[in-house]
Amino acid sequence: MENTVIVGGGHAAAALCAALAEAGQGGRIQLVCAEHDLPYQRPPLSKSFLKKADEAIASHKAAAWYAEQGIQTHLGDPVVSIDREARIVLLRSGTALPYHQLVLATGTRARTLDALPPGLHNVRVLRDATDARALRTRLNEMVASGRRLTLLGGGFIGLELAASARQLGLEVGVLEVAPRLLGRSVSALIAGHVLAHHRSMGTEVQIGVHIEGCELVGERLRSMQVDGNRVEVDELVLGIGAVPETRLASACGLAVDNGVLVDACMRTSDPAVLAIGDCAAFLAADGARLRLESVQNANDQARSAAATLLGREEPYRALPWFWSEQGPMRLQMAGLLPPISESALRSGANAGSFTLFHLRDGRLLCAESVNAPLDHMMARKLIEAGVSVDIEALTNPAIPLKSLLG
Ligand SMILES: Cc1cc2nc3c(=O)[nH]c(=O)nc-3n(C[C@H](O)[C@H](O)[C@H](O)COP(=O)(O)OP(=O)(O)OC[C@H]3O[C@@H](n4cnc5c(N)ncnc54)[C@H](O)[C@@H]3O)c2cc1C
Repeated sequence: MENTVIVGGGHAAAALCAALAEAGQGGRIQLVCAEHDLPYQRPPLSKSFLKKADEAIASHKAAAWYAEQGIQTHLGDPVVSIDREARIVLLRSGTALPYHQLVLATGTRARTLDALPPGLHNVRVLRDATDARALRTRLNEMVASGRRLTLLGGGFIGLELAASARQLGLEVGVLEVAPRLLGRSVSALIAGHVLAHHRSMGTEVQIGVHIEGCELVGERLRSMQVDGNRVEVDELVLGIGAVPETRLASACGLAVDNGVLVDACMRTSDPAVLAIGDCAAFLAADGARLRLESVQNANDQARSAAATLLGREEPYRALPWFWSEQGPMRLQMAGLLPPISESALRSGANAGSFTLFHLRDGRLLCAESVNAPLDHMMARKLIEAGVSVDIEALTNPAIPLKSLLG
């Protein structure tokens, strides 16, 4: 492998470092990250980290590991430009790093609202450790002073945060402009279940709302006009999704369309440049272009990219899976929800737990599990195996899913 610069220090970058170090190539890697922390686990930021005042950011690997592997890290020093002709990346500090191969693992950035100017003191997003540290401090102050948290957007991160804030004892309101929670990532049945779950936790959830205006006073958002009513705002967190961080790629002329375009081996329109993780829009086996935002996708694409960098072809064909923890509810998905499918419900081992399967022509394509981790694991195996399954057997909890593998 030749000298490789990895831009970004998230899940994809960490997994790529691990895969290349395992192949004995750590000494050829330079890792450049805009953040000051070494690569760390992002999922806890909306869950346990917010609820436990003493929980630390969970690094993937300690600083000593990077040193042992010979990986040079450049933290808190983002790449500001890429010269593809000269094969050099320029960091904000002025450092210029030459590369033979470059990997973009720049993730996403939180979407903001045009109606709200940046820098308002009581409006935030939750994307990284800096956001999470500040939010945790603020939530604890709010608990002490009995303030209310408003979340704009009923997506995964917003709902996880809503549940965490409720568990801290805060009053929480969620405003969602779409007619249901979680957009099109989950089925209508699961969206309804999630809505009921949050309401049962005491969160005031409004769906299908119209935000008609925002009242600003100085550097603060005082209220929002929602469906003709004035809603006072103590603290607002925007959970309205993320946009792929493709600015560097666009600026250096790589092909970009809702993500950096890559082939199944993670190569961009320039074969010397790869892109992985949330920022990459890849070619799936059926020829569709997909961009996924999940830890699984980041990890598996990193493995595929490592193979490419090491001169092997290992196209990314992994089954997508995802999890979300919203208070006591653990939602797990395997496969992608097909637009049209036949659905079948299987009760889980514990009260209130279940899995909703989605099939087409007898083949299992997707499974959505609520507090049913073992069924989720088996569903992954069944989908990967591509076997035809009998709906009667699938929905009968007395028949072990394992037996359907054949
Ligand atoms: C609060 C939260 C909770 C989540 N929970 C879950 C969950 O429960 N389950 C799940 O599957 N997924 C979850 N996700 C999504 C998951 O974390 C992402 O899919 C994953 O982090 C993607 O990895 P990545 O490496 O592509 O991007 P990121 O992890 O976002 O890393 C991108 C990195 O690139 C850096 N960067 C960007 N531009 C530059 C530049 N110019 N120079 C240098 N560095 C740059 C960024 O600072 C960042 O560190 C969650 C995400 C968040 C924010």
